[in-house]
Amino acid sequence: MKYIVVSGGVLSGIGKGIIASSTGMIMKSMGFRVTSIKIDPYLNIDAGTMSPFEHGEVFVLDDGGEVDLDLGNYERFLDVSLNRDNNITTGKVYNTAIEKERRGLFLGKTVQVVPHITNEIQKWIERVSHMSVDGNSGEPDICVIELGGTVGDIESMPFIEALRQFQFRVGVENFCLMHVSLIPVLGVVGEQKTKPTQQSVRELRALGLSPDLIMCRSTQPLEDETKGKLALFCHVSKDNVIGVHDVSNIYKVPLLLNDQNLPALIVNRLKLTCKVDLIRGPETPYWLSAWKKMADKMDQVSNDSLKPIRIAMVGKYTGLSDSYLSVSKSLEHASMDIDRKLVVDWIACDHLELEHKSENLYEYEAAWETLRRCNGILVPGGFGDRGIEGMILAAEYARTSGKPYLGICLGMQIAVIEYARNILGWTNANSEEFTSTLAKNVVVFMPEVSKTHMGGTMRLGSRKSIFNDCTSKISQLYGIKEAGQAIDERHRHRYEVNPEFVDEIEKAGLHFVAKDETGQRMEIIELKNHDYFVGCQFHPEFKSRPQKPSPPFVGLILSCWKQELDKNFGESKLIPILKKWNLH
Ligand code: GLN
Repeated sequence: MKYIVVSGGVLSGIGKGIIASSTGMIMKSMGFRVTSIKIDPYLNIDAGTMSPFEHGEVFVLDDGGEVDLDLGNYERFLDVSLNRDNNITTGKVYNTAIEKERRGLFLGKTVQVVPHITNEIQKWIERVSHMSVDGNSGEPDICVIELGGTVGDIESMPFIEALRQFQFRVGVENFCLMHVSLIPVLGVVGEQKTKPTQQSVRELRALGLSPDLIMCRSTQPLEDETKGKLALFCHVSKDNVIGVHDVSNIYKVPLLLNDQNLPALIVNRLKLTCKVDLIRGPETPYWLSAWKKMADKMDQVSNDSLKPIRIAMVGKYTGLSDSYLSVSKSLEHASMDIDRKLVVDWIACDHLELEHKSENLYEYEAAWETLRRCNGILVPGGFGDRGIEGMILAAEYARTSGKPYLGICLGMQIAVIEYARNILGWTNANSEEFTSTLAKNVVVFMPEVSKTHMGGTMRLGSRKSIFNDCTSKISQLYGIKEAGQAIDERHRHRYEVNPEFVDEIEKAGLHFVAKDETGQRMEIIELKNHDYFVGCQFHPEFKSRPQKPSPPFVGLILSCWKQELDKNFGESKLIPILKKWNLH
């Protein structure tokens, strides 16, 4: 097993995760099997209890692990399915060590950070790195380990020390350290400053880790002189200073690394035997040339002169796009697949509410104007009652105006409440999450999980949804050929459509297209006589990949495009794409 460890210096948020996943991706394109581990030095056991306001989206894995959003980047760039243990936190490590201590497994010793916690970390890394994540048997060849935070942070110290020991445990030829740093530019002349990087490398070396590669984030390409200076002061050769300047889209990062010979540097450093599979290679989307085509396409569809498809994202955390990172990525994958330019308009759901009109007329009108101007509406997942009525208004607007709608998790529950209120006339229809039991709860709490414990008590991870038809748009998009076929998607919810009212709602025209294995849980809704009005209880965004877009998102973008085309052009451009997605 070869390890590529990625540490960060100077600042957080400079794109360490993208550099680490891009490195994994180019090694994968050379025929290696790659896995990854993300280390988060915070004390939380996992990201499940963390607010999207503070920490961005909670990413969900097949096994139900609620993890840091960086694991989403790895899954998307490497096209793998990671496990919850691929995300290590201080909380998890201490939890394991403390449990062992209580069971007396340390045999009377004083339990200490060094060696007990550092041993625990090393064992964890070794165990997890050998697990297959690409669906094939056998072990990966390379494990990319990203250490969250910045070198020097108090909380990451045990991890740094564990990694220092680890290089000797696994052998220096199996351990390559990549340090990601920032090169700021000062003054009118725009001199690239190397001192912060020098200092962070010095700090790392003082802790016993010496970087093999220095990855420099900068706005413009690194100047030769800057590279020379970094090599001189940071104890690496000039070739091992890699520039990662700002590029037009993130898919270009692997190409940028490849252009600077990174794969060869890693192959030499880790004494890897290159195993590019020339027969299979060119067919896989991860082959660099296919990746390059995609990166170029992303530029083409972003061209200013093109008319975009505008998707209004009506949610709670719209101030921070990281809170819906996977949803944004999925929209991007889908629009790239059908060569459309995409613009996402963020609408804070509470701004749509009538109450907001008197509080802030400008915001209220701007929100409605944005909604009216968009081509399609997406209500993503969420928790708590703030802004719910605004989301219900957005769903109503989509239903009545004929604009394509996709509701994810909460967004599906919202659509059901709206339908019950406005079509069935159940004016007090609601969800048990937002109201007292006096209301007519068309969405209810699932009885078998704990109401009081916050962590890990939701319906989480990959579950089956069984289709009961093959003619609805969503079943065609998923390639369902006959009723009874199933798909696996990832879930994260506590509430669900109340089975008591399903028949009545169905009779009124809202079709429950897929259910779980028991037939009790509603998984997908679709409205008849509407171009595209779909809701899913699961989160399709977690399995969308570049070049393998997720069907519900394709359906949304495609329907928006179709509505535009009907007005402006013929349908000839559309036909092959509709065929590809089974929508004849
Ligand atoms: N709050 C809702 C539930 O728990 C929806 C969750 C979600 O959107 N992820 O069921």
